[in-house]
Order: sequence, then structure tokens, then C-alpha cells
Amino acid sequence: MNAAPLLEVRNLRVEFPTRRGTLVAIDDVSFSIAPGEVLGVVGESGAGKSLTGAAIIGLLEPPGRIAGGEILLSGRRIDDLPAEAMRKVRGREIGAIFQDPLTSLNPLYTIGRQLVETITLHLGLGAAQARARAIELLQATGIPAAEARIDHYPHQFSGGMRQRVVIALALAANPKLVVADEPTTALDVSIQAQIIALLDRLCREHGTAVMLVTHDMGVIAEVADRVAVMYAGRIAEIGPVADVIHRPQHPYTAGLMGSIPSISGERERLAQIDGAMPRLDAIPRGCAFHPRCRRAMTVCRERRPELREAGTSLAACWLHDRAAAPAAEAF
Ligand code: SF4
Repeated sequence: MNAAPLLEVRNLRVEFPTRRGTLVAIDDVSFSIAPGEVLGVVGESGAGKSLTGAAIIGLLEPPGRIAGGEILLSGRRIDDLPAEAMRKVRGREIGAIFQDPLTSLNPLYTIGRQLVETITLHLGLGAAQARARAIELLQATGIPAAEARIDHYPHQFSGGMRQRVVIALALAANPKLVVADEPTTALDVSIQAQIIALLDRLCREHGTAVMLVTHDMGVIAEVADRVAVMYAGRIAEIGPVADVIHRPQHPYTAGLMGSIPSISGERERLAQIDGAMPRLDAIPRGCAFHPRCRRAMTVCRERRPELREAGTSLAACWLHDRAAAPAAEAF
């Protein structure tokens, strides 16, 4: 993408201090998202994808902390903002959607009250205009009889309908970026595709960029423009979604593709990769993936590969370094 980035994450490092030392959960992660672009972030549980999202929206749970790098939104640093200023950025410029809709909704208030509060706070509209906009948003997210449903409480909605309300809430202030963390994982399989399609359509209509965090490569394949594959707190590969899926440049990505549902609907989980991702306190030296990699070489056990050009993508793998891996076959 040539447009100036909307979001830039530079050398992000997230640490968790523990009694037995400091755990590095995100290690030197850099990427950007252009205006209106959908970036998928995929990886196994514990790879650091949700933590990256939480760091961007300023909701890292203590003792987790940003220990290095910077995060810029429209060229302005947001990782060092005071809590109150970050709260404003979160409502106005960045919308957030979590796995459980009840994380975002207050059970004690009608959904109308919550939408109207967000709209009046961030857009400065009067009460009647804000209510009209809230109804419009609910209609746009496919809530039937929005004029009546606006006065209902979150528990009066099904899980899928609640997530539609959360999407309306996330988009209420016309944010430039939505960070969606596993937005459909808690929902019925039959509803998941509808919600993803809705999120994709509304964000494209509004020119809203999306960072879509999911373990589900199938979801990424549906909606993302680019995808970042994370492993053990780092980006293993990042590139245009079709290229990463059809011509993976990192052995981990190649294995991960086994988790895309086949045409028959069966899902193999990481079929080609033995072993498990290392725990944070046991990340191996060199390439963190080397104990599981069938193509590991001596250099992989000793030195950590940085992201380098690999086709149309970037991949952190020594196979793409001719000097380090002269004998390696082309990927
Ligand atoms: Fe495998 Fe080595 Fe590439 Fe790591 S750097 S993915 S161990 S070939």
C-alpha cells in the first residue's frame, strides 16, 4: 500500500515482570495499516496477537507493560498518552470489538443509552440527533425493529445480535481504526460468517481500517487485504493475503495453512507441524520455531532471523538469506 500509514507499530516490546524474571511477550514487532485496509493478525493462542491489539488500544492488563518501541496513529504517538487521553482516542479514533460482547456492553443500561452516550461524547450531537444516529447504526448492523430494540437491555439480545450492537458501538464515533479481537469466536458457527461479512462491509463503506485478530485463517482469507502471522511474540511473516495463503514464505505459515477448512468442511489443525509453541519462559535461542521446523539448519539454532523480503511478503526465516543458507533450496 502506498498511502501514508494510519497505524504504525514500531519495534513494539511488551513485557510481563514476574518474580522469576521478565517475560517478553511481544518482541520487536513492527507493522503498519493503511487507511481503509484490513490487516489480519493470525497465530496460535499465546503467539502475542491479542496482546498486540491490547497494546494498541491501551488496554494491556497489568503487570503487562509496553517496554519498548512506539505506536503511532495518523503520525501521532499514542503509546505514551495519559490514561484519560487514551480513553478518548479509544472511543473517538479507535473502536474496539472483543470476543465477548458483554465486555463492551454495560448490562445495566439499555443499548440505546450506551450508543447515545458514545455519540454525544465523541461527536457532540444533541440527544435527539444522537438517538437518530443510534437507530441508523442499529439498522445498518441488521438489528430488526431498531426503533423498538434500542430501548432493550443487552441480555434481551442473542449472542449474535449483541455482537452486532457492539459493532454499532465500535463504529458510533466514526473511528479511523477498529481493533477486533476474535470477534466471532464465541458465536455459533452459523452466525460467524454473517458477523464477519457485516464488519467487513461496514468498515469498507466507512473507509475504516481494521486490525482483525483471529486464530482462524479461514476468516482472514475471507476479508483481509494483508495478513501478519505471529509466532512466539514475533511476526514470522507478513504480506498480501492471497500470497501468504498460496505461497507461504515461512515454514510456520506453510504449516498453519493446514488449519484452513478444506472444501469438505473438515479442519485440520496445524497438520504438518509437530510439537507446540514454546512458553514465554522457554523461547529457544535463534529462530523460535526451530525445534518444530523440518527445514531447520545450524544457523537457525544460533541466530534469530529478522524479517526480510521473500517474494511479495516479508518473512523471518534464514531460508531467504542466501548468505546464511547458501545450500537451501529456493522456498
Ligand atoms: Fe525453519 Fe530456520 Fe526458517 Fe526458522 S529460520 S523457520 S528454523 S528454516
